[in-house]
Amino acid sequence: MQKSITTKKFSFVPDRTILIAALVIPAIHFCLVKWAVSMSYENGVTPIWPSSGFYVACILVLGYRVLPAIFLSELIINISLFYKYPAITIVVSIVNVLDILISGFLINRFINPRNLLKRSGNVFKFIMLIPISPLLSSTFGVALQCLDGITSWTAYGEAWRIWYCGTIASVLIIVPAILTWFQKPEPQIQLTWQAIGEFTLLLLSLIIISRIAFLGGYPLEYMLIPPLIWSAFRFGQRQATLLVIIVNAIAIYGTIHGFGSFIKPSVNESLLLLQSFICVVALTTFVLLAVVNENKRAQAKLKKAKDELEQRVQERTAELKEAKLAADTANQAKSEFLANMSHELRTPLNGILGYAQILQTSPNIAEKESKGIDIIHQCGKHLLTLINDILDLSKIEARKMELDPKDFHFLLFLQGVVEICRIRAEQKRIFFIYHFSDELPNGIYADEKRLRQVLINLLGNAIKFTDEGGVTFKVEVIGNRESVMRNGKEQLPITNSQLPITNYQLQNPKIRFQIEDTGVGITPQQIEKIFLPFEQVGKTEKQAEGTGLGLAISRKVVALMNSVIEVQSQPGKGSIFWFEVEFPLAEEWTETPKIAQQKTVIGFEGKKRKILIVDDRWENRSVVESLLKSIGFEVFEASNGEEGLDKAFQLQPDLIITDLAMPVMDGIAMTKHLRSHVDFQDVPIIVSSASVFDFHRQQALDAGCDDFLPKPIEAQELLLQLQNHLQLTWIYGNKDEFITNAVEAEMIIPSSLELVELYQAAQRCDVADIEAETRRIQQLDAKYTVFANNILALVDDFEVEAIATFIQSYILPQ
Ligand code: ADP
Repeated sequence: MQKSITTKKFSFVPDRTILIAALVIPAIHFCLVKWAVSMSYENGVTPIWPSSGFYVACILVLGYRVLPAIFLSELIINISLFYKYPAITIVVSIVNVLDILISGFLINRFINPRNLLKRSGNVFKFIMLIPISPLLSSTFGVALQCLDGITSWTAYGEAWRIWYCGTIASVLIIVPAILTWFQKPEPQIQLTWQAIGEFTLLLLSLIIISRIAFLGGYPLEYMLIPPLIWSAFRFGQRQATLLVIIVNAIAIYGTIHGFGSFIKPSVNESLLLLQSFICVVALTTFVLLAVVNENKRAQAKLKKAKDELEQRVQERTAELKEAKLAADTANQAKSEFLANMSHELRTPLNGILGYAQILQTSPNIAEKESKGIDIIHQCGKHLLTLINDILDLSKIEARKMELDPKDFHFLLFLQGVVEICRIRAEQKRIFFIYHFSDELPNGIYADEKRLRQVLINLLGNAIKFTDEGGVTFKVEVIGNRESVMRNGKEQLPITNSQLPITNYQLQNPKIRFQIEDTGVGITPQQIEKIFLPFEQVGKTEKQAEGTGLGLAISRKVVALMNSVIEVQSQPGKGSIFWFEVEFPLAEEWTETPKIAQQKTVIGFEGKKRKILIVDDRWENRSVVESLLKSIGFEVFEASNGEEGLDKAFQLQPDLIITDLAMPVMDGIAMTKHLRSHVDFQDVPIIVSSASVFDFHRQQALDAGCDDFLPKPIEAQELLLQLQNHLQLTWIYGNKDEFITNAVEAEMIIPSSLELVELYQAAQRCDVADIEAETRRIQQLDAKYTVFANNILALVDDFEVEAIATFIQSYILPQ
């Protein structure tokens, strides 16, 4: 497809311009001819015919419509300056116009003139195309000159070569120079003072070199090429092509006037040297311009790609930030919701669990009711575990769970875990064995609470899912083959004095925890599921005992310790769960004081202590009050911080237990007030809150509180904190003895007449009748309630024989 520079490549040129061109082109042609003539040898031979280049450029810039103007221009000048015969003039003009037309056509056809100096490929094509059409003009033109008598036929060959080379040289240096001026200026070339200075310097250097070469007679013409190369690198196409023209003009002028090293005895030889110089200078500069341009374009493309990439990265980052923000907000909302929900649930649970604990120690409760209270306590605890688990999981999901490592006594810790699990195993009548390697370090630095949570979950599952056989718990240091195992089945709990001295030397021993059971096992398909939240597999009756959250949490906690929980299991045979964690050794550890588990605190030694409870919820105050009053504390209450302050100054309590969030004045503000007063610098203040946020605990401690007691309140934990802060020595009483004695003391036995039916039912081992008869007796009189409760408790345990023996002693022989 033919390329039209006028319509496609350049901006719109109005037809008026063509009319102007018809006037301007002949005028310029005239000037150029005059200039060429001035630069010709005495015999009229000129090394370059500038009009040829000018015409081709006109076609490329203005289109083929300027051909008539060119023809006109040729006619006028040829007839007025060169040829005698009009017919020859017309033919010469036609031939010249044809030459121009062919050149223009070929360049338009094969090169996009706008990009002539922008691609090295275009420069190459240009060099290949421009020698074609002058073949025609020089062949016919010189022949017509001979016919006209301007040139002799003997000099045809010489004249042909000069015409041919002169046309090529003209097109070569003039076309690119004119085209560049009709293009948009290159944006990267800016007219700064520095650029102007540099260009002036370049021009000066060209003039100096030209002067030395042409006037000084030194053969330095080719030294003109380096400044041109410089211009190609440092300036745009316009400047470089202009300089090419200037350099060539100097070279032509110098040579024609007999200066420089191109001067040879033969004019033809001189011309040949000069024309080859013109071509070398122009070609070198143009090729360089094209390469520099390609390089710049490649750089620009690269920069554009980089910018686009940066832009895309920025957009993507912004999108990700937005998504993260949305996710964080959603997570935050979820966490807040869960935290608030858990706070709301904990408050009533505080009442339930608190009173369950108080009632458990009450001496006036019959065994059946006591069992009911135990169940309330267990259910409450279960609910609390569930709330805590959900909260843990949401913390993990919101990536807010962090480990809180401390130095602690590892062996005592393991012993504690074993104690909890052994009781459960005993209740299920399965064996529970533990092996602790002799190489285990005494103290480690780890998150004791989280490690205990994981172990109790794995051990709890093992016991829960095992009905026959038992559970083996192994803890060992990895990589030490000669570790001696201590079989813990018969072993007594370790006390501080019995602790083995380990000779373990490593700084961060890797410890393997393994829990093996002979229980129901898990199928390979189930193994994939069990670590997902709320996933439970196997028999449904066991599922009811759990939540399906334990393993999900344990896995995440172990992941925080940089490890994974592994499982091997065979359905029907049992499972092995294990994980390996590196723990730093601990040099110092504190042993957590304990309150004897099996004994009930019934009082404390020394004077009566005053405790002030500040809480806006009456049920919370009531729980603590009941717990503490029953063991001899003098308890006072306040329903907000302000009231708390008044009571504190009025009563001078030995210890204050305060809630955090309260109307009028919160616990933190109250603590700060108290701490600023000299009388309350050392009075212990315990914060008791259902808040699950760690920062609340920290805030409380920063405000001057001494301890934090989570709600729902654990009686043991409360007593422990009181013991710590008030240096108390507890007085214990055994709960079981206490209750049995109380029951016996109050039990009123019905008359033997009333007991006959019951006795007979017991002898028949008819549980339903025993129960019905007992209830009948109970309804006879409220005073028989304790008796009835005792019998019903025995019924629950199927102790029918014991019932018969018991009643027999109260029935008269008749
Ligand atoms: P759950 O509260 O139900 O015990 P977990 O997340 O701790 O929740 O356990 C998920 C499920 O994995 C359990 O419901 C049980 O089906 C299975 N599982 C866990 N440990 C064992 C085990 N030792 N033997 C058999 N099944 C187990």
